[in-house]
Amino acid sequence: MENITPLRKQYLDIKKNYPEAIVFFRLGDFYETFEEDARIAARELEIVLTSREMGKGLKVPLAGIPYHALDNYLSRLINRGYKVAICEQVTKPGETKGLVQRQVTRLVTPGTVVEPNLLDSKQNNFLLSLYLTGDSCGLAFADISTSEFGCTQLDINGLEAEINRLNPAEIIMPKSQSLNLPPHLKATISKLDGYYFEADVARERLLKHFECQNLSAYGCENLPLAVSAAGALLNYLEGTQKSSLKQLERLSVYTISDYMQIDSHTLSNLEIFRSSGGNSLKGSLLGVLDQTKTAMGGRLLRKFLGQPLLRQEDIEKRLSAVDYFFEESLARASLAKSLGQIADMERIANRIRQKTILPKELISLKHSLEIVSAIHRQFGLMPPPRLVYFLNGLKPLPEMLDIINEAISDDPPSTLGEGKVIRSGFNPEMDKLCSLAGDARTFLSQMEAREREQTSIKSLKLGYNRVFGYYIEVSNANLADIPQNYIRKQTLVNAERFITPELKEYENLILNAKERLLEMETGLYEQVLNQLGGFYSVLLSNAAVLASLDVLSAFAEVAVRNGYVRPVFHPENSMAIHRGRHPMVEQGLGHGSFVANDISLSAEDCQIIILTGPNMAGKSTYLKQTALIVLMAQIGSYVPAETAELCLTDRIFSRIGAREDLSAGQSTFMVEMVETASILNSATSRSLLILDEIGRGTSTYDGLAIAQAVVEYIHSQPSLNAKTLFATHYHELVEMANYLPRVKNYNIAVSEDRGEVVFLHKIVPGGVDKSYGIHVAKLAGMPKWVIKRAYEVLTELENPAKKQPKNRTCQPQLKLPMTEQTSILSAEIKELEIESLTPLAALNKLYELKKKAEEKGF
Ligand code: ATP
Repeated sequence: MENITPLRKQYLDIKKNYPEAIVFFRLGDFYETFEEDARIAARELEIVLTSREMGKGLKVPLAGIPYHALDNYLSRLINRGYKVAICEQVTKPGETKGLVQRQVTRLVTPGTVVEPNLLDSKQNNFLLSLYLTGDSCGLAFADISTSEFGCTQLDINGLEAEINRLNPAEIIMPKSQSLNLPPHLKATISKLDGYYFEADVARERLLKHFECQNLSAYGCENLPLAVSAAGALLNYLEGTQKSSLKQLERLSVYTISDYMQIDSHTLSNLEIFRSSGGNSLKGSLLGVLDQTKTAMGGRLLRKFLGQPLLRQEDIEKRLSAVDYFFEESLARASLAKSLGQIADMERIANRIRQKTILPKELISLKHSLEIVSAIHRQFGLMPPPRLVYFLNGLKPLPEMLDIINEAISDDPPSTLGEGKVIRSGFNPEMDKLCSLAGDARTFLSQMEAREREQTSIKSLKLGYNRVFGYYIEVSNANLADIPQNYIRKQTLVNAERFITPELKEYENLILNAKERLLEMETGLYEQVLNQLGGFYSVLLSNAAVLASLDVLSAFAEVAVRNGYVRPVFHPENSMAIHRGRHPMVEQGLGHGSFVANDISLSAEDCQIIILTGPNMAGKSTYLKQTALIVLMAQIGSYVPAETAELCLTDRIFSRIGAREDLSAGQSTFMVEMVETASILNSATSRSLLILDEIGRGTSTYDGLAIAQAVVEYIHSQPSLNAKTLFATHYHELVEMANYLPRVKNYNIAVSEDRGEVVFLHKIVPGGVDKSYGIHVAKLAGMPKWVIKRAYEVLTELENPAKKQPKNRTCQPQLKLPMTEQTSILSAEIKELEIESLTPLAALNKLYELKKKAEEKGF
């Protein structure tokens, strides 16, 4: 240690507190990184890795970036999941004895960024805190760029869906706990000391933050796990921001059952936030609905989609507002135009509060406030009844506008110190300093001209650098002509630099004036921000109103463009959709190409639809469009149909397609069974089940047995009685309609024309007995040989008599007609008293039954 420089010691003292972060160590105009940090920075930022001598014989790897380019480099590191500790010089050179003092002023992590260029404007940047205990979990989230702060306590089974919905940038949890994230989530996981999650510690932290005696007012006094997560989150945030987070004024405690619950598989199966193919916005429901004009509206739309409503009254409020904008096209167009010019007031409000706002952003806030006044004149003075509820909180802020107008110049630079941010006339003393600095500048250019004339050195120039201050530069060729009063200051390769007493005097004047100007402008700017900070809450409530108007008018815009209708809700447990369409497939195919279809489901008489039809006919599309229409209606959107009469749905479940979860050590079939079991255990009579090809992942008989058992279970359980769409290639299942009264068969029509199959995409009553799978394989470009051979094998399988005498094994054929088999089986099922069993026990029983059936030769 004795051999290292004081700077190295200072660095090491700081670095030891941030072992998991890259330390950006401010050295003059650069942020330097050392050792392993430097290697990472050089690799990730593509900057040069050099070294610096920091002790006797000690060369330390070093890589640096210019201080003014911080945001740019920071974003690259944060986007790749790194954490960066920003270490600033906190004293001025010469102010203290020895080294300039340095300290970390902020720890930037993916979940705590506030820089606008590091944030996706239409998405929240959530930091999530989790505290898991056995079957339950405490969850808290915060976005410090918008000051949202919420917490809940939930069953561990609902956790994945909630994480999916919030899509956090970073998750904190105790060191002793672990979490398997779905692969599409890119959140950084930060493990913390379990101490911060301890009930008392976390509770104290919250009490201190909210300056209260107990947490009853926040609704979480009796939610210890939620409190643990929220307290630890606050602690972590304060540690990274190095300040208290006063802007987190509210803690919203919620229960996931307050909203329609959509598990994470269903969210991704229905492609709510991203398409499954490209994993992008395009092709997702969000992509279709997002006609919002503001960043705040974009974020609110995501929230709507993740939390469909359960109370008809709340849904109708939204639908009525959409109805208004649907009918009033002029109002809709003018609102869209206004909203298009509104800045992200929610994030601006927070940046004012944190004093990180740039002068230019205040100007865009000023324009936004002007537009708020215009929107208030349009809707707020005589609020249309259908909008009243959502206009509550819209309040023009002329005082705020005046403050900005008076204090900030119209086109301010990004940095303070030149006297160009604060408007001239706002503060007489600052005006004086500005003119002094200006005069000095004029003096210097006059002096340059005068010196050139007097010395006859045309190339003579006056310049400035940070180390030597102002100087007169004369090229080597003209050195013979310099006057006596020139004092040599610096030697360059081709020139010498000089000062004169007169220049020195002005230098002092200018530098003093500049320093005072910087101090004064910074002070005045801060004063202005303090004043503006007083409007924080009103600004946020305006932002909330604008976000709602934005989403609801966007729903209307989408409805008009795509021909959607207002859904109607009724109390019966049934739904009837006339000429429904799939919003994303319809958009992908282009206007008029989508074949609309009807659906009618009812807990009373048509509870389960068994949908058969060839591959590629449109079964999945039909299933998903029904679920999407239900979901769209419950977020308050119009729906793609001619009419939609719906009941309230508490949960949508889907089990669609094959999906492996190898990271969790589960095979495709296991995933299918786990998801199906969870659906059967959780659905209620108010749920909608979308089951596509259950049982497909195993052998035909196993699969068929499971599929049949699942349908029979859903049909037989009074508590379940969920409306169900069941698409299948097991044509045998259509027999169930003969003995299960609430099961109805439908299929998707195809026409065959001289051997060619034409998909009509039309849903018609009845079942089918053909899959056309080989035809689809042909369309997919399979080699002709394979197609020909497949048709041969199919013929053999369908007509065993025609079987070629080859040494090949094939599936055994059913010996009894299907109807007879099913009636024998259903008698046995009754004997099993399956109604009294849990889903898994029922499946096991049915599996046994299937074995018996096989033994009997069925
Ligand atoms: P598989 O059994 O092979 O999974 P499927 O019957 O589920 O097929 P889908 O995936 O729903 O078929 O649909 C296949 C394609 O058919 C869709 O991508 C879409 O392009 C088209 N399609 C589906 N439904 C319709 C419709 N109603 N109108 C027009 N085109 C449709």
